[in-house]
Amino acid sequence: MFATPIQNRYDAIVVGARCAGAATAMLLARQGAKVLLIDRGAHGTDTMSTHALMRAAVMQLSHWGLIGKVVASGAQPVTTTSFLYEGEEPIDIAIKPGHGTSALYAPRRYALDAILSDAAVEAGVDLHYGAQLVDLLRGPHGGVTGAVLRDRTGSTHEVAAGIVIGADGRHSTVAKLTGAATIKRAHHASMCVYAYADGLPNRGFRWFWAEGAAGGIIPTNEGHSCVFLSLPRTETRTFRTALSREGFRDALSTKMPGLAAETAEAAMATRPVGFPGEPGYLRRACGDGWALVGDAGYFKDPLTAHGISDALRDAQVLADAIVMGCTDHYAATRDAISGDMLTISDRIGSFEWTLDELMALHDKLNRTMKANHAWIAENLHAMAIAA
Ligand SMILES: Cc1cc2nc3c(=O)[nH]c(=O)nc-3n(C[C@H](O)[C@H](O)[C@H](O)COP(=O)(O)OP(=O)(O)OC[C@H]3O[C@@H](n4cnc5c(N)ncnc54)[C@H](O)[C@@H]3O)c2cc1C
Repeated sequence: MFATPIQNRYDAIVVGARCAGAATAMLLARQGAKVLLIDRGAHGTDTMSTHALMRAAVMQLSHWGLIGKVVASGAQPVTTTSFLYEGEEPIDIAIKPGHGTSALYAPRRYALDAILSDAAVEAGVDLHYGAQLVDLLRGPHGGVTGAVLRDRTGSTHEVAAGIVIGADGRHSTVAKLTGAATIKRAHHASMCVYAYADGLPNRGFRWFWAEGAAGGIIPTNEGHSCVFLSLPRTETRTFRTALSREGFRDALSTKMPGLAAETAEAAMATRPVGFPGEPGYLRRACGDGWALVGDAGYFKDPLTAHGISDALRDAQVLADAIVMGCTDHYAATRDAISGDMLTISDRIGSFEWTLDELMALHDKLNRTMKANHAWIAENLHAMAIAA
Protein backbone atom coordinates (compact mmCIF):
# COMPACT_ATOMS: atom_id res chain seq x y z
CA MET A 1 0.00 0.00 0.00
CA PHE A 2 1.23 3.49 -0.80
CA ALA A 3 0.29 6.33 1.54
CA THR A 4 -1.78 7.87 -1.25
CA PRO A 5 -3.07 6.00 -4.32
CA ILE A 6 -0.83 5.90 -7.39
CA GLN A 7 -2.02 5.80 -10.99
CA ASN A 8 -1.56 2.86 -13.34
CA ARG A 9 0.33 4.95 -15.86
CA TYR A 10 2.63 8.02 -15.83
CA ASP A 11 4.53 9.94 -18.47
CA ALA A 12 7.65 9.34 -16.38
CA ILE A 13 8.66 7.34 -13.30
CA VAL A 14 11.74 8.78 -11.60
CA VAL A 15 13.60 6.46 -9.24
CA GLY A 16 15.53 8.32 -6.53
CA ALA A 17 14.29 11.57 -4.97
CA ARG A 18 17.54 13.39 -4.19
CA CYS A 19 19.22 16.15 -6.18
CA ALA A 20 19.15 14.45 -9.60
CA GLY A 21 15.76 12.73 -9.37
CA ALA A 22 13.77 15.39 -7.52
CA ALA A 23 15.05 18.10 -9.90
CA THR A 24 14.24 16.03 -13.01
CA ALA A 25 10.74 15.19 -11.71
CA MET A 26 10.07 18.85 -10.82
CA LEU A 27 11.20 20.09 -14.25
CA LEU A 28 9.11 17.51 -16.11
CA ALA A 29 6.01 18.30 -14.05
CA ARG A 30 6.52 22.04 -14.54
CA GLN A 31 6.34 21.35 -18.27
CA GLY A 32 3.08 19.45 -17.91
CA ALA A 33 4.17 15.81 -17.55
CA LYS A 34 2.51 13.36 -15.14
CA VAL A 35 5.36 12.13 -12.98
CA LEU A 36 5.78 9.51 -10.26
CA LEU A 37 8.86 10.07 -8.08
CA ILE A 38 9.88 7.32 -5.66
CA ASP A 39 12.65 6.76 -3.17
CA ARG A 40 13.27 3.80 -0.92
CA GLY A 41 14.59 6.24 1.73
CA ALA A 42 12.88 9.02 3.69
CA HIS A 43 12.19 12.73 3.20
CA GLY A 44 14.64 15.28 4.63
CA THR A 45 17.47 12.87 5.39
CA ASP A 46 21.19 13.31 4.92
CA THR A 47 23.47 11.39 2.59
CA MET A 48 27.21 11.26 2.16
CA SER A 49 28.47 14.57 0.80
CA THR A 50 30.63 17.53 1.67
CA HIS A 51 27.83 19.68 0.17
CA ALA A 52 29.79 22.33 -1.79
CA LEU A 53 27.71 23.78 -4.63
CA MET A 54 29.63 25.36 -7.47
CA ARG A 55 28.34 28.39 -9.37
CA ALA A 56 26.61 26.14 -11.92
CA ALA A 57 24.36 24.66 -9.21
CA VAL A 58 23.53 28.07 -7.75
CA MET A 59 22.64 29.27 -11.27
CA GLN A 60 20.24 26.34 -11.72
CA LEU A 61 18.65 26.76 -8.30
CA SER A 62 18.21 30.52 -8.91
CA HIS A 63 16.66 29.87 -12.31
CA TRP A 64 14.21 27.41 -10.75
CA GLY A 65 13.24 29.94 -8.03
CA LEU A 66 14.69 27.82 -5.22
CA ILE A 67 17.85 29.60 -4.09
CA GLY A 68 15.82 31.67 -1.56
CA LYS A 69 14.79 28.41 0.11
CA VAL A 70 18.42 27.31 0.29
CA VAL A 71 19.29 30.61 1.99
CA ALA A 72 16.26 30.28 4.31
CA SER A 73 17.43 26.79 5.32
CA GLY A 74 20.37 28.45 7.07
CA ALA A 75 23.05 27.49 4.54
CA GLN A 76 25.85 30.02 5.00
CA PRO A 77 26.74 32.25 2.02
CA VAL A 78 30.23 31.68 0.65
CA THR A 79 31.84 34.72 -0.93
CA THR A 80 35.49 33.62 -1.06
CA THR A 81 37.28 30.51 -2.26
CA SER A 82 40.80 30.00 -0.94
CA PHE A 83 43.45 27.63 -2.22
CA LEU A 84 46.08 26.79 0.39
CA TYR A 85 48.92 24.87 -1.25
CA GLU A 86 51.41 23.64 1.34
CA GLY A 87 54.42 25.95 1.55
CA GLU A 88 52.80 28.65 -0.62
CA GLU A 89 51.01 31.90 0.22
CA PRO A 90 47.21 31.37 0.36
CA ILE A 91 45.33 32.36 -2.80
CA ASP A 92 42.01 34.03 -1.90
CA ILE A 93 39.55 34.47 -4.75
CA ALA A 94 36.43 36.59 -4.21
CA ILE A 95 33.29 35.11 -5.79
CA LYS A 96 32.62 37.67 -8.51
CA PRO A 97 28.94 38.42 -9.07
CA GLY A 98 28.01 36.90 -12.41
CA HIS A 99 25.41 34.74 -14.12
CA GLY A 100 22.92 35.98 -11.50
CA THR A 101 24.86 34.75 -8.47
CA SER A 102 27.06 36.57 -5.97
CA ALA A 103 27.52 33.81 -3.37
CA LEU A 104 27.92 30.05 -3.31
CA TYR A 105 26.35 27.71 -0.72
CA ALA A 106 26.88 24.26 0.74
CA PRO A 107 23.46 23.18 2.03
CA ARG A 108 23.23 19.95 3.98
CA ARG A 109 21.50 17.31 1.90
CA TYR A 110 18.61 16.99 4.37
CA ALA A 111 17.83 20.58 3.34
CA LEU A 112 18.72 20.67 -0.40
CA ASP A 113 17.10 17.37 -1.37
CA ALA A 114 13.94 18.23 0.60
CA ILE A 115 13.72 21.66 -1.09
CA LEU A 116 13.87 19.97 -4.49
CA SER A 117 11.42 17.17 -3.65
CA ASP A 118 8.96 19.67 -2.06
CA ALA A 119 9.21 21.75 -5.24
CA ALA A 120 8.49 18.62 -7.27
CA VAL A 121 5.33 17.96 -5.24
CA GLU A 122 4.34 21.61 -5.64
CA ALA A 123 4.67 21.15 -9.42
CA GLY A 124 2.23 18.21 -9.27
CA VAL A 125 4.55 15.20 -8.93
CA ASP A 126 3.26 12.11 -7.06
CA LEU A 127 6.04 11.46 -4.54
CA HIS A 128 6.37 8.28 -2.49
CA TYR A 129 9.12 7.48 -0.01
CA GLY A 130 9.61 3.92 1.22
CA ALA A 131 9.00 2.69 -2.34
CA GLN A 132 11.66 0.67 -4.14
CA LEU A 133 12.10 -0.12 -7.80
CA VAL A 134 12.67 -3.89 -8.06
CA ASP A 135 12.16 -4.61 -11.77
CA LEU A 136 11.32 -3.04 -15.11
CA LEU A 137 8.38 -3.81 -17.40
CA ARG A 138 9.30 -4.54 -21.01
CA GLY A 139 7.41 -4.24 -24.29
CA PRO A 140 7.45 -6.89 -27.03
CA HIS A 141 10.70 -5.50 -28.50
CA GLY A 142 12.50 -5.22 -25.17
CA GLY A 143 11.95 -1.49 -24.60
CA VAL A 144 11.17 -0.37 -21.04
CA THR A 145 7.45 0.32 -20.57
CA GLY A 146 7.18 0.73 -16.82
CA ALA A 147 8.40 -0.36 -13.41
CA VAL A 148 7.72 -2.90 -10.70
CA LEU A 149 7.67 -1.13 -7.34
CA ARG A 150 7.74 -2.59 -3.86
CA ASP A 151 5.96 -0.67 -1.11
CA ARG A 152 6.69 -0.64 2.65
CA THR A 153 4.52 -3.72 3.27
CA GLY A 154 6.43 -5.74 0.67
CA SER A 155 3.60 -5.72 -1.90
CA THR A 156 4.63 -5.13 -5.51
CA HIS A 157 2.86 -2.91 -8.04
CA GLU A 158 3.26 -2.70 -11.82
CA VAL A 159 3.12 0.87 -13.11
CA ALA A 160 3.33 1.77 -16.80
CA ALA A 161 5.34 4.79 -17.96
CA GLY A 162 6.54 6.54 -21.09
CA ILE A 163 10.03 6.58 -19.59
CA VAL A 164 11.69 5.22 -16.43
CA ILE A 165 14.48 7.46 -15.16
CA GLY A 166 17.17 6.05 -12.92
CA ALA A 167 18.29 8.76 -10.50
CA ASP A 168 19.13 6.03 -8.05
CA GLY A 169 22.77 6.76 -7.40
CA ARG A 170 26.03 4.93 -7.90
CA HIS A 171 24.61 1.44 -7.39
CA SER A 172 21.71 2.17 -9.73
CA THR A 173 19.19 -0.66 -10.13
CA VAL A 174 17.93 0.96 -13.35
CA ALA A 175 21.48 0.88 -14.77
CA LYS A 176 21.83 -2.80 -13.78
CA LEU A 177 18.43 -3.86 -15.14
CA THR A 178 18.93 -2.05 -18.45
CA GLY A 179 22.53 -3.24 -18.73
CA ALA A 180 23.63 0.37 -19.38
CA ALA A 181 27.16 0.08 -20.74
CA THR A 182 30.06 2.01 -19.23
CA ILE A 183 31.33 4.26 -22.00
CA LYS A 184 34.17 5.93 -20.10
CA ARG A 185 35.89 4.70 -16.96
CA ALA A 186 38.19 6.53 -14.54
CA HIS A 187 41.14 4.73 -12.99
CA HIS A 188 41.67 6.27 -9.56
CA ALA A 189 39.63 6.91 -6.43
CA SER A 190 40.39 9.12 -3.46
CA MET A 191 39.20 8.28 0.06
CA CYS A 192 37.49 10.93 2.13
CA VAL A 193 36.73 11.37 5.84
CA TYR A 194 34.69 14.30 7.12
CA ALA A 195 33.01 15.65 10.24
CA TYR A 196 31.03 18.78 11.15
CA ALA A 197 32.90 21.35 13.25
CA ASP A 198 31.15 23.83 15.48
CA GLY A 199 32.14 27.48 15.88
CA LEU A 200 34.51 28.06 12.95
CA PRO A 201 34.18 31.50 11.34
CA ASN A 202 32.78 31.54 7.80
CA ARG A 203 35.89 32.25 5.72
CA GLY A 204 34.37 30.73 2.59
CA PHE A 205 35.43 27.51 0.89
CA ARG A 206 38.97 26.71 2.03
CA TRP A 207 40.73 24.02 -0.01
CA PHE A 208 44.04 22.68 1.42
CA TRP A 209 46.52 20.78 -0.74
CA ALA A 210 49.72 18.91 0.04
CA GLU A 211 51.48 16.14 -1.83
CA GLY A 212 49.58 12.96 -0.88
CA ALA A 213 46.66 14.66 0.89
CA ALA A 214 43.91 17.23 0.45
CA GLY A 215 41.38 18.75 2.79
CA GLY A 216 38.95 21.54 3.25
CA ILE A 217 36.58 23.63 5.33
CA ILE A 218 33.09 24.08 3.89
CA PRO A 219 30.58 26.29 5.78
CA THR A 220 27.17 24.62 5.81
CA ASN A 221 23.91 24.71 7.87
CA GLU A 222 23.48 25.08 11.66
CA GLY A 223 26.61 27.26 11.86
CA HIS A 224 28.65 24.11 11.24
CA SER A 225 31.54 23.65 8.84
CA CYS A 226 32.19 20.39 7.07
CA VAL A 227 35.89 19.60 7.62
CA PHE A 228 37.24 16.91 5.29
CA LEU A 229 40.45 15.05 4.66
CA SER A 230 41.05 13.23 1.36
CA LEU A 231 43.74 10.63 0.87
CA PRO A 232 45.06 8.38 -1.88
CA ARG A 233 43.44 4.95 -1.90
CA THR A 234 46.62 3.34 -0.64
CA GLU A 235 46.25 5.11 2.74
CA THR A 236 43.75 2.60 4.12
CA ARG A 237 45.28 2.50 7.60
CA THR A 238 45.10 6.30 8.07
CA PHE A 239 41.57 6.25 6.62
CA ARG A 240 40.40 3.66 9.16
CA THR A 241 42.06 5.45 12.08
CA ALA A 242 40.51 8.77 11.02
CA LEU A 243 36.99 7.37 11.52
CA SER A 244 37.11 8.23 15.26
CA ARG A 245 37.11 11.83 16.53
CA GLU A 246 40.59 11.49 18.01
CA GLY A 247 41.91 9.60 14.97
CA PHE A 248 40.54 12.32 12.67
CA ARG A 249 42.45 15.00 14.62
CA ASP A 250 45.61 12.87 14.47
CA ALA A 251 45.23 12.28 10.73
CA LEU A 252 44.68 16.01 10.13
CA SER A 253 47.81 16.86 12.17
CA THR A 254 49.94 14.34 10.30
CA LYS A 255 48.64 14.84 6.76
CA MET A 256 47.35 18.43 6.75
CA PRO A 257 48.98 20.47 9.53
CA GLY A 258 47.60 23.78 8.17
CA LEU A 259 44.03 22.48 8.26
CA ALA A 260 44.64 20.89 11.70
CA ALA A 261 45.84 24.24 13.06
CA GLU A 262 42.88 26.13 11.62
CA THR A 263 40.36 23.71 13.15
CA ALA A 264 42.20 22.98 16.42
CA GLU A 265 39.91 25.09 18.63
CA ALA A 266 36.66 23.92 17.04
CA ALA A 267 34.63 21.12 18.62
CA MET A 268 33.72 18.29 16.26
CA ALA A 269 29.93 18.15 16.55
CA THR A 270 29.69 14.73 14.89
CA ARG A 271 31.69 11.55 14.52
CA PRO A 272 33.67 11.42 11.26
CA VAL A 273 32.11 9.65 8.29
CA GLY A 274 34.22 7.91 5.65
CA PHE A 275 33.96 7.25 1.92
CA PRO A 276 36.44 4.56 0.79
CA GLY A 277 36.48 5.84 -2.81
CA GLU A 278 35.18 4.56 -6.12
CA PRO A 279 36.55 5.19 -9.60
CA GLY A 280 34.39 7.45 -11.75
CA TYR A 281 32.44 6.39 -14.82
CA LEU A 282 30.17 7.61 -17.57
CA ARG A 283 27.41 5.10 -18.32
CA ARG A 284 25.22 5.11 -21.41
CA ALA A 285 22.73 7.90 -20.70
CA CYS A 286 19.54 6.46 -22.19
CA GLY A 287 17.91 3.76 -24.27
CA ASP A 288 14.46 2.61 -25.35
CA GLY A 289 12.13 3.81 -22.56
CA TRP A 290 14.82 4.60 -19.97
CA ALA A 291 17.40 7.21 -18.97
CA LEU A 292 19.98 7.70 -16.21
CA VAL A 293 20.69 11.01 -14.48
CA GLY A 294 23.01 12.07 -11.64
CA ASP A 295 25.41 9.52 -10.16
CA ALA A 296 23.38 6.68 -11.69
CA GLY A 297 24.82 7.60 -15.07
CA TYR A 298 27.86 9.74 -14.34
CA PHE A 299 30.06 9.69 -11.26
CA LYS A 300 33.40 11.38 -10.75
CA ASP A 301 35.86 11.58 -7.89
CA PRO A 302 34.26 13.83 -5.22
CA LEU A 303 37.53 15.75 -4.75
CA THR A 304 36.43 18.28 -7.39
CA ALA A 305 33.02 18.70 -5.63
CA HIS A 306 30.96 18.72 -8.82
CA GLY A 307 28.51 15.82 -8.40
CA ILE A 308 25.51 17.92 -7.33
CA SER A 309 26.24 20.75 -9.79
CA ASP A 310 26.46 18.30 -12.70
CA ALA A 311 23.36 16.40 -11.52
CA LEU A 312 21.27 19.61 -11.49
CA ARG A 313 22.53 20.61 -14.95
CA ASP A 314 21.80 17.17 -16.39
CA ALA A 315 18.34 17.11 -14.78
CA GLN A 316 17.53 20.21 -16.81
CA VAL A 317 19.01 18.80 -20.03
CA LEU A 318 17.18 15.48 -19.60
CA ALA A 319 13.81 17.02 -18.72
CA ASP A 320 14.00 19.36 -21.73
CA ALA A 321 15.03 16.50 -24.04
CA ILE A 322 12.11 14.34 -22.86
CA VAL A 323 9.65 17.18 -23.38
CA MET A 324 11.08 17.71 -26.89
CA GLY A 325 10.78 13.94 -27.49
CA CYS A 326 14.49 13.59 -28.12
CA THR A 327 16.40 11.75 -25.38
CA ASP A 328 19.31 11.20 -27.79
CA HIS A 329 19.93 14.94 -27.48
CA TYR A 330 20.37 14.42 -23.72
CA ALA A 331 22.90 11.63 -24.28
CA ALA A 332 24.91 13.62 -26.82
CA THR A 333 24.89 16.79 -24.68
CA ARG A 334 25.71 15.09 -21.38
CA ASP A 335 28.56 13.11 -22.90
CA ALA A 336 30.02 16.16 -24.65
CA ILE A 337 30.00 18.37 -21.55
CA SER A 338 31.03 15.76 -18.96
CA GLY A 339 34.18 14.15 -20.33
CA ASP A 340 36.71 16.82 -19.32
CA MET A 341 35.42 17.01 -15.74
CA LEU A 342 35.59 13.23 -15.38
CA THR A 343 39.20 13.19 -16.63
CA ILE A 344 40.34 16.13 -14.46
CA SER A 345 38.62 14.70 -11.36
CA ASP A 346 40.35 11.38 -11.99
CA ARG A 347 43.75 13.05 -12.33
CA ILE A 348 43.27 15.07 -9.13
CA GLY A 349 41.85 12.05 -7.27
CA SER A 350 44.90 9.99 -8.25
CA PHE A 351 47.20 12.11 -6.03
CA GLU A 352 49.88 11.32 -8.62
CA TRP A 353 50.94 14.95 -8.99
CA THR A 354 53.37 17.47 -7.66
CA LEU A 355 51.91 20.72 -6.33
CA ASP A 356 53.01 22.49 -9.55
CA GLU A 357 51.17 19.89 -11.64
CA LEU A 358 48.14 20.21 -9.36
CA MET A 359 48.05 23.98 -9.88
CA ALA A 360 48.04 23.38 -13.65
CA LEU A 361 45.18 20.89 -13.18
CA HIS A 362 43.28 23.49 -11.16
CA ASP A 363 43.74 25.99 -14.01
CA LYS A 364 42.29 23.44 -16.39
CA LEU A 365 39.43 22.75 -13.95
CA ASN A 366 38.72 26.47 -13.75
CA ARG A 367 38.55 26.77 -17.56
CA THR A 368 36.24 23.74 -17.73
CA MET A 369 33.99 25.26 -15.03
CA LYS A 370 33.82 28.60 -16.85
CA ALA A 371 32.90 26.88 -20.13
CA ASN A 372 30.22 25.00 -18.21
CA HIS A 373 28.81 28.23 -16.71
CA ALA A 374 28.69 29.82 -20.15
CA TRP A 375 26.96 26.73 -21.55
CA ILE A 376 24.37 26.73 -18.76
CA ALA A 377 23.76 30.47 -19.05
CA GLU A 378 23.14 30.09 -22.79
CA ASN A 379 20.94 27.05 -22.23
CA LEU A 380 18.89 28.78 -19.50
CA HIS A 381 18.51 31.77 -21.76
CA ALA A 382 17.18 29.52 -24.54
CA MET A 383 14.78 27.95 -22.02
CA ALA A 384 13.53 31.34 -20.88
CA ILE A 385 12.78 32.28 -24.50
CA ALA A 386 11.03 28.95 -25.08
CA ALA A 387 8.93 29.49 -21.93
C1 LIG B 1 32.38 11.79 0.24
C2 LIG B 1 31.62 12.52 -0.82
C3 LIG B 1 31.68 13.90 -0.85
C4 LIG B 1 30.99 14.61 -1.85
N1 LIG B 1 31.05 15.96 -1.86
C5 LIG B 1 30.41 16.65 -2.82
C6 LIG B 1 30.46 18.07 -2.84
O1 LIG B 1 31.05 18.73 -1.97
N2 LIG B 1 29.80 18.72 -3.86
C7 LIG B 1 29.14 18.02 -4.83
O2 LIG B 1 28.58 18.65 -5.73
N3 LIG B 1 29.08 16.68 -4.82
C8 LIG B 1 29.69 15.97 -3.84
N4 LIG B 1 29.62 14.61 -3.83
C9 LIG B 1 28.86 13.93 -4.89
C10 LIG B 1 27.36 14.01 -4.63
O3 LIG B 1 27.08 13.61 -3.30
C11 LIG B 1 26.62 13.11 -5.62
O4 LIG B 1 27.04 13.46 -6.92
C12 LIG B 1 25.12 13.27 -5.47
O5 LIG B 1 24.67 12.77 -4.24
C13 LIG B 1 24.40 12.53 -6.59
O6 LIG B 1 23.02 12.70 -6.38
P1 LIG B 1 21.98 11.70 -7.04
O7 LIG B 1 20.65 12.32 -6.81
O8 LIG B 1 22.41 11.35 -8.40
O9 LIG B 1 22.11 10.33 -6.22
P2 LIG B 1 22.05 10.01 -4.68
O10 LIG B 1 22.31 11.19 -3.84
O11 LIG B 1 22.93 8.81 -4.50
O12 LIG B 1 20.53 9.57 -4.44
C14 LIG B 1 20.02 8.37 -4.97
C15 LIG B 1 18.68 8.07 -4.30
O13 LIG B 1 18.12 6.93 -4.95
C16 LIG B 1 17.46 6.13 -3.99
N5 LIG B 1 17.42 4.75 -4.52
C17 LIG B 1 18.46 3.97 -4.85
N6 LIG B 1 18.02 2.80 -5.36
C18 LIG B 1 16.67 2.85 -5.33
C19 LIG B 1 15.64 1.93 -5.73
N7 LIG B 1 15.92 0.74 -6.27
N8 LIG B 1 14.35 2.29 -5.54
C20 LIG B 1 14.04 3.50 -4.99
N9 LIG B 1 14.98 4.41 -4.61
C21 LIG B 1 16.28 4.08 -4.79
C22 LIG B 1 18.33 6.25 -2.74
O14 LIG B 1 17.55 5.98 -1.58
C23 LIG B 1 18.80 7.71 -2.82
O15 LIG B 1 17.97 8.56 -2.04
C24 LIG B 1 30.26 13.90 -2.83
C25 LIG B 1 30.20 12.50 -2.79
C26 LIG B 1 30.87 11.82 -1.80
C27 LIG B 1 30.78 10.32 -1.78
